[in-house]
Amino acid sequence: MSSLYSMKIENLSGIGKKRAELFNKLGVFSVGNLLNYYPRDYEDWSDITEICDVADNTTVCIRATVGSAFKSNYTKSGKFIAKVAVYDESGGAELVFFNNRYIMNMLAYGQTYLFFGKASHTLDGVSMTSPTFQPDNQSSAVQPIYNLTAGLNNKVVTNAVKKALKLLPETVNDPLPESVRSRFKLCGLKYAIENIHFPESIEALETARKRLVVEELLVLNLGLRDLKNRKRAANKNVIIKDYSDSFAKLLPFNLTNAQKRVIGECVGDMMNPDITLNRLVQGDVGSGKTAVAASICYTTVKNGKQCAFMAPTEILTEQHYNSINELLSPAGIKVALLTGSLKPSEKESIRARLETGEIDLVIGTHALITDKTLFNDLGLVVTDEQHRFGVAQRAKLLSKGNSPHLLVMSATPIPRTLGLIIFGDLDISIIDELPPGRQEIDTLLIDSSKRERALGFIKKEAQKGRQAYIVCPLIEESESDLISAEEYAAELMLNYFSDIPVGILHGKMKPAEKESVMRDFADDKLKILVATTVIEVGIDVPNATIMMIENAERFGLSQLHQLRGRVGRGEEKSYCILVSDSTAQTAFERLKTMCSTSDGFKIADADFKLRGPGDFFGSRQHGLPKLSISSLADTRNLDLSQKIADYVILDSNNLLDDRYRALKAEITRLFKTTGDETLN
Ligand code: ADP
Ligand code: MG
Repeated sequence: MSSLYSMKIENLSGIGKKRAELFNKLGVFSVGNLLNYYPRDYEDWSDITEICDVADNTTVCIRATVGSAFKSNYTKSGKFIAKVAVYDESGGAELVFFNNRYIMNMLAYGQTYLFFGKASHTLDGVSMTSPTFQPDNQSSAVQPIYNLTAGLNNKVVTNAVKKALKLLPETVNDPLPESVRSRFKLCGLKYAIENIHFPESIEALETARKRLVVEELLVLNLGLRDLKNRKRAANKNVIIKDYSDSFAKLLPFNLTNAQKRVIGECVGDMMNPDITLNRLVQGDVGSGKTAVAASICYTTVKNGKQCAFMAPTEILTEQHYNSINELLSPAGIKVALLTGSLKPSEKESIRARLETGEIDLVIGTHALITDKTLFNDLGLVVTDEQHRFGVAQRAKLLSKGNSPHLLVMSATPIPRTLGLIIFGDLDISIIDELPPGRQEIDTLLIDSSKRERALGFIKKEAQKGRQAYIVCPLIEESESDLISAEEYAAELMLNYFSDIPVGILHGKMKPAEKESVMRDFADDKLKILVATTVIEVGIDVPNATIMMIENAERFGLSQLHQLRGRVGRGEEKSYCILVSDSTAQTAFERLKTMCSTSDGFKIADADFKLRGPGDFFGSRQHGLPKLSISSLADTRNLDLSQKIADYVILDSNNLLDDRYRALKAEITRLFKTTGDETLN
């Protein structure tokens, strides 16, 4: 099989230069690629419906004989239209074709064909519009439907695949050795490839698909484990002295045991000359990850090295900067903020001082990644809310030092299986304890008929001195949303909160405006903050006790959990009010999950089951190789691939065994096709 990857697609007969270019557009460059270009869907021509059984608005295959001459005509809009009557033993139907003059020569009177397509019931009986067809004497089977590009139709792709399949040798070099296949009940590669394109039956298709899915996830799994091993590089930034205790003295509170443990795990790695700190710190919202990160930064700086701390949004970055600067600058540490919205001259000055080493700790957004940012001696990279950064971005920041230590923080509890895959190259520390004095947040699900009461409640709480967030479901950075955010806030101010200071926060505001609103809210000058999801991550205002979320059904559970985590940070009783009029069952179930648990991991698992992994990454790329058939949402096969990976590692002595050469080649191939070279 591997040799087929070096055979260019234009070497296939019937594919000239022009067609080859079209195939290239689909990402198909070699014959091997073509065999991996799996159908998007299938038409089941083996399941024939009698005309009398054809239901309205269904896709069917009928076996019917042409029983009339064509009648042709033009529609009012000038389209050519041709109709013909067909029949089987159970009844008759009419076929309609648009803009196809040749059709009249393609279907012969008295001949029997298989017709496949959408059928409907009209006044005249069963009708099919532009069905595809083939002579009845061909074997009726499940037929592949490929994703296409202009100039390349399904037939051309199908024929090319047929030719490519003929080139498969009798015994293909299967990445999964016989022992693995029989143990985990998976079919052979040749069978799988043949049947994913031209299934003998629906069952054969399922068998083939399963095998290919599992193999791809296995390859992904093993590749990420390999990365993890390679990262076990000798420590080029050995930390000599642990300053965790002197850091703890700077804090206005005592660290929890979980925080102390995690700090110890990280510093332990950094002091070990044989390994580099390479760790994901997972902790539920409010578990105090910032203090953990600040402690590690402190120890790093005290040992004479620089730190870069990256967060996904400007507001969060500013908040981290403010709290960490307040804590560390009295201890003589030079902290700086670097975001895209600083004046060019300010950025320049900070970058210059980073390069000379005058700044010890820089806290910033993506602005940190650009080529212009250089360090004198970068010893540690911290990324907050890691799931928002791609693996490649993380790697870019790391490349700015000489194998610096890496600390990745995430509040989004990622389901275990998925976490193992995505963070396969990281060790994991978990902060499984909240600081003392936190209270359960009461979560209520209401419909809009109760909104008025909820707003009344918010008003009362505000008069008592509390603060509230009200979230409207607006997408950041869209012009129209901006208007509605403001309109929404104006309406609230006019009708409910006329004597209460209300602020607005949305993605379209200038960073300085956002910051001043945020600061006013943090300083208790604003009682109510109407916001889009820009408050989603990290923001910390302990006096805020109510989080009301409009159209809650539009948010993912993990997102809702993050939002809810903005309250319940102080001594007072806190509430989360979810407003939704959605009548959809799944939406209701999801929102009920929010009311019944505050355990971020349980919520993440529920979310993952209901919505798949998209919610964890949004549209942001997560930096993993592109998968051609499997999906990270496929938990069952993910689990299976995990098990097989464990088995393979043992059975192959870490893939050194010759029987696994083909599998190893697949790993290299999958990771070569992504931007992941940057990982090293
Ligand atoms: P997250 O883990 O969600 O990032 P933060 O680091 O923002 O949480 O911490 C949430 C709040 O808890 C902050 O106000 C922080 O000062 C406070 N905090 C952190 N650790 C402790 C602790 N051990 N005891 C009391 N408060 C703490
Ligand atoms: Mg945080």
